[in-house]
Amino acid sequence: MKAKPWDVIVLGVGGMGSAALYHLARRGQRVLGLEQFGIAHEMGSSHGLTRIIRLAYYEDPAYVPLLCRSYELWRELESGAGEQLLHICGSLDCGPANDEIFTASLQSCIEHGLEHEALGNAEISARWPAYRFPADTMGLFQPEGGFLLPEACIRAHVNAAQASGAELHTDVRVREWQVRPGGLVELRTDDAAYLAQRLVISAGAWAGQFLPELDTVAIPERQVLVWLQPQEPAHFKAERFPVFNCLVDEGRYYGFPDFAGQGFKFGRYHHLDEPADPDTLDRERISAADKRVLLQFAQRYFPTGAGPALLYKVCMFTNTPDEHFIIDHHPQHEQVCFAAGFSGHGFKFASVVGEILADLALQGSTRHDIDFLRADREMIPLATAGPSNTTN
Ligand SMILES: Cc1cc2nc3c(=O)[nH]c(=O)nc-3n(C[C@H](O)[C@H](O)[C@H](O)COP(=O)(O)OP(=O)(O)OC[C@H]3O[C@@H](n4cnc5c(N)ncnc54)[C@H](O)[C@@H]3O)c2cc1C
Repeated sequence: MKAKPWDVIVLGVGGMGSAALYHLARRGQRVLGLEQFGIAHEMGSSHGLTRIIRLAYYEDPAYVPLLCRSYELWRELESGAGEQLLHICGSLDCGPANDEIFTASLQSCIEHGLEHEALGNAEISARWPAYRFPADTMGLFQPEGGFLLPEACIRAHVNAAQASGAELHTDVRVREWQVRPGGLVELRTDDAAYLAQRLVISAGAWAGQFLPELDTVAIPERQVLVWLQPQEPAHFKAERFPVFNCLVDEGRYYGFPDFAGQGFKFGRYHHLDEPADPDTLDRERISAADKRVLLQFAQRYFPTGAGPALLYKVCMFTNTPDEHFIIDHHPQHEQVCFAAGFSGHGFKFASVVGEILADLALQGSTRHDIDFLRADREMIPLATAGPSNTTN
């Protein structure tokens, strides 16, 4: 007898896909997740122990309502999982007084009535002694900022999805998909085929392999993270160290307090500006240039944190030209929706993106305002795309 088609298949069970699987399963769907590696692996974009979450959003105040829902959903997931996934330590968005990291963060707080404090550099260093920014720095402190534990979040979403009846196949690499006459979606791996009423594509850095138009607008980029052994460990405890984004002469950086004794973690946005192929990226090699852009930053701006390097990790951003996400239906196939191009700031949204993808897959629309993330906006030419359904 032929297998009954799935209600929904989720292609890619990382940050976004695990959340989509959870929301679809909780709505009673017969849902299958297909993942080419294991759950919470280190080959994609959602590993490395911590991810910043914050409400002050210089990228665009339109993200703030999504963030409010995201916080709610993370807390709901936490209470169901019985473990802490979200740690609050405050967030600090810093830069020269006229730079948008400070000004637009402040604007997002004013526009959405978020609690905040605008602080000069002397106040920042007096309050959080690890920080040693240039004298003209201004910082926007928002007390609800903090960090998520991404691997634990993915596992919690998957566990809760499975508890609600979702099925999961790991170590399965999807090679292609197509819409059959009649509307069912067929996915093929090397040795199997799957049929579904609807498809959610959440393939991260691999998205362009399933939506070839994304190749030019959702571009994977190599990133490197470091953990240093602080020389003054007390300065880097979460009680005394908000997560930060900052603009300094050397570029835009972000960082975290020491969590679980792993050290002071930070990275530079668009690390060395290197495009990456997710299938061939060398995730082990760390060059002298990699070390230089990280270690010099710590020596200059966090001198009490600039001890020996404990660990480096390679990861990938997937950047769009305007650095906003793309969440939409496929331009030709209403039964296919996708979320891609998270441009280095997506993980904090995974919980609400899962809810949105479930809405799009099941209802065709969502109550969340995601108009600014649609696929046919300026610079994202997906609306004019031809049929797009194969990968290598
Ligand atoms: C170094 C670094 C630091 C970051 N810091 C932050 C931060 O502080 N805060 C924040 O909010 N965001 C941050 N981000 C961004 C955030 O982590 C990403 O936007 C987010 O994790 C992307 O999730 P995703 O689901 O799109 O990708 P992934 O989690 O990589 O998931 C995609 C999944 O699809 C699977 N897949 C792909 N192709 C196939 C196939 N053919 N068959 C089956 N499965 C397939 C992959 O194996 C993978 O599991 C950071 C990213 C990096 C790299």
